[in-house]
Amino acid sequence: MSSRVDALVIGGGLLGCATAWMIARDGGTVMLAERDQINQHASGQNAGSLHYQLEYRMMEHGIEAARKAAEAMPLHLDAARLWSRLAEETGEAIDVRRTGGFMLAETTAQARLLEQKAEIERAWGLDVQMLDGSEAREIAPYLSESIVAAAFCPLEGKADTRTAAPALARAAIRAGADIRSRCEVTSLRRDGSGWRATLAEGVAEHRTTREVHAKAVVIAAGVWTTALGDMVDAVLPTIPLALTMTASVRTPSFIAHLVQHAGTRLSLKQVPDGNVLIGGGWAARLLRAADGQPDFATRPEFMRESLAGNIDAAIAVVPQLGRIPALRSWVGTTTVTPDQLPLVGPVPGAPGVFVATGGSAFTLGPSFAEVLTDLVAGRLPATDLSSFRPQRYQEEHA
Ligand SMILES: Cc1cc2nc3c(=O)[nH]c(=O)nc-3n(C[C@H](O)[C@H](O)[C@H](O)COP(=O)(O)OP(=O)(O)OC[C@H]3O[C@@H](n4cnc5c(N)ncnc54)[C@H](O)[C@@H]3O)c2cc1C
Repeated sequence: MSSRVDALVIGGGLLGCATAWMIARDGGTVMLAERDQINQHASGQNAGSLHYQLEYRMMEHGIEAARKAAEAMPLHLDAARLWSRLAEETGEAIDVRRTGGFMLAETTAQARLLEQKAEIERAWGLDVQMLDGSEAREIAPYLSESIVAAAFCPLEGKADTRTAAPALARAAIRAGADIRSRCEVTSLRRDGSGWRATLAEGVAEHRTTREVHAKAVVIAAGVWTTALGDMVDAVLPTIPLALTMTASVRTPSFIAHLVQHAGTRLSLKQVPDGNVLIGGGWAARLLRAADGQPDFATRPEFMRESLAGNIDAAIAVVPQLGRIPALRSWVGTTTVTPDQLPLVGPVPGAPGVFVATGGSAFTLGPSFAEVLTDLVAGRLPATDLSSFRPQRYQEEHA
């Protein structure tokens, strides 16, 4: 069986679902192929922070690295705009809370770093206010006396990772998209001015194969981006990161904001159900297959030092957390790129194939999707993509 579409979107995480919805809303015929279930991987396992300030991982290598990472700010500002309209535009109850977010300092060196960071961010148009410890505690009485300064960004907040991508998938279906789970793209080959994809649908002995012809292909495959790049002979380098999360039991609401730290890996927030989600980049152990390649099909392993370190960092800034039991911990895998900037744009040497991934791609999912929709339609995206183009790695390998 063969069919023809304007666009084939590979991957049913937040990015793929948002892209399929936007392409369908734009009037394009679109098929989304998801190998497993919609929202099964990083998009359904992450912390749900909508963060627009530079993160600790972007500052830990110094202010010049932070300055480079800030080149992605236009995508963050777009994301803030798009997240705030998503529920209304999709007609779905997508739970997005704009609560404001802190980045905390417990030392004068961290406070100085926050000031430099805020200066960079303001130059890109992000609203960030510097507070001293008492001012921060006035807004957020749950914060520890150890906090000496904080950067506060009113735009930041959180969204519900369990429901956002499925809601976008439903909106995409209503707009006419063909959304398929248990549908793996196993090959892509050039066919006229478009691409012919082989899809393996179903499970085990019930698997069937079909082909689809697409004028454009969107790679929205998270940690599998590099493997999809290989399918079209393109270098799409990504660095996989296995990360740890912990959720507390439900507790009466006391943390209104997103909380991050300038000197350690930490993000925490309280969700509307009352659980406090604690994460921020503490490693889990990624397993490797016999050939030495990362094994993304198997869950990474917990690392005791990460679980303990993450909880310690959380209690240090919100002491009350020391009295709230943990309910569960989990691990998930995500991607960053070698230069910490997103990978967004046309795939080199593969006309009509477009990609987006890298970094906080839950936060950035809607703005990535908007750019991909423009590229699929042959429009010039409003955001200048020159810092993010995949071509930069092709040039390095030449
Ligand atoms: C523990 C953790 C915490 C995080 N916290 C945050 C946070 O607070 N805020 C934030 O912004 N980001 C956060 N992230 C990062 C964020 O989760 C990811 O960047 C984002 O979810 C990526 O979305 P995606 O749709 O691109 O990829 P995914 O959600 O990984 O989806 C990709 C999909 O592609 C499918 N696929 C792959 N290959 C094929 C194929 N050949 N055929 C068909 N389908 C295929 C996969 O099955 C998968 O479902 C976190 C990540 C983790 C792991």
